[in-house]
Amino acid sequence: MAVRTFGGWEQIQSRIFQMTNPTENPSTTRFQEYLRIRSIQPEPDYDGIRHFLFKMAEEIGLESRVLEFVQGKPILILTWTGTQPHLRSIILNSHTDVVPVFEEFWTYPPFSAHKDKDGNIYARGTQDMKSVTIQYLEAVRELKAEGLRLTHWTVEPDEEIGGHTGMEILAEHPEFRALNPGITLDEGLASPSDEFNVFYAEKCVWWITVHCRGDPGHGSRFIENTAASKLNSVINSFLEFREKEKKRLQSNPRLTLGDVTTVNMTKVNGGVSCNVIPTEMSATFDLRIPPTVNLKEFEAQLEGWCRAAGDQVTWEYHQKCMNQRMTTPDNSNPWWKAFSDPCKELGLKLKPEIFPAATDSRYIRTAGFDALGFSPMNNTPILLHDHNEYLNESVFLRGIEIYKRILPSLASVPPLDGEH
Ligand code: ZN
Repeated sequence: MAVRTFGGWEQIQSRIFQMTNPTENPSTTRFQEYLRIRSIQPEPDYDGIRHFLFKMAEEIGLESRVLEFVQGKPILILTWTGTQPHLRSIILNSHTDVVPVFEEFWTYPPFSAHKDKDGNIYARGTQDMKSVTIQYLEAVRELKAEGLRLTHWTVEPDEEIGGHTGMEILAEHPEFRALNPGITLDEGLASPSDEFNVFYAEKCVWWITVHCRGDPGHGSRFIENTAASKLNSVINSFLEFREKEKKRLQSNPRLTLGDVTTVNMTKVNGGVSCNVIPTEMSATFDLRIPPTVNLKEFEAQLEGWCRAAGDQVTWEYHQKCMNQRMTTPDNSNPWWKAFSDPCKELGLKLKPEIFPAATDSRYIRTAGFDALGFSPMNNTPILLHDHNEYLNESVFLRGIEIYKRILPSLASVPPLDGEH
């Protein structure tokens, strides 16, 4: 994907901004500075990110170090040592990269962090998820004296391209186990209503290509047993199931996207010439399956559709997640209680949900640890990966106050089973 550049404008804008807004909340100013770092895929400025976050960590008084399992893909670890460092730690995870932009569709340059008269701050990453990184740090800047448990910030590269050079490696690495994780907080989604979403699980991603082989021949005849007729059957089966799941979602207001299986045909291949019936055609499907579905049964159903299309039909999975570990979103889980109690005291309406796509949390849960996805952005349209991504300043600042209540509550969870 093409990434355009525009020279120097952000820096100039930044200086003008500081000159004309001397009374601005310094948390907002730091958020805007962070947004201006072009950590955009496919060539994120990770040096700029490291420099900025390490400077911030130093100001706050956090220890910092870098793990680099893949060259040029730094994982930053910031640490605030609590008074009981032997207890399991709180991990505050975030990613530093952002997705590409189509600048011509933006009202303000996407790395300007322009704040309009309503306080809306426009930049790629305002929602996904540079806001959260800064909110964690700003909350702790003020909380520094109250720590009871060890807190680590893990700041990941490359989440937006699958996390394979970031959290996927870290979560399985002895370095992560050595952090002794109790609960991890990670990203969620903006919520257009006054509720706050909290994600306790993610859907399983399956990518499957179905190859259909058949008899070739001249395009002028009625050849039987063709690749196309088998492909037609496969496509119909997948897309009929898609319709059923869509109707199930639309007819039940209690269901969210996280509760149903999505299916999309994303690639079709085949054919060599306009007048030759080909020997092979294939289709690829992207499926996102809720963790509540019996995956063995689902697999049998899906492969049954392929078999029913005829002989010489084979399939391959490019991605097939079989891990359905969820974090329990009720008070039987002391981490959930410590997370949700201060939210209740603040009068926040929490809505526990299954995340409709995939984040770094899936690697953490697969490794056997609890994780909650939460980005404190209510009354905000969902604009991640969209043009004109923005976050209102008051929502951003309120998020810091929310973390100022949640973090001490998590840090105060008394020793659990196995901890002493
Ligand atoms: Zn994200």
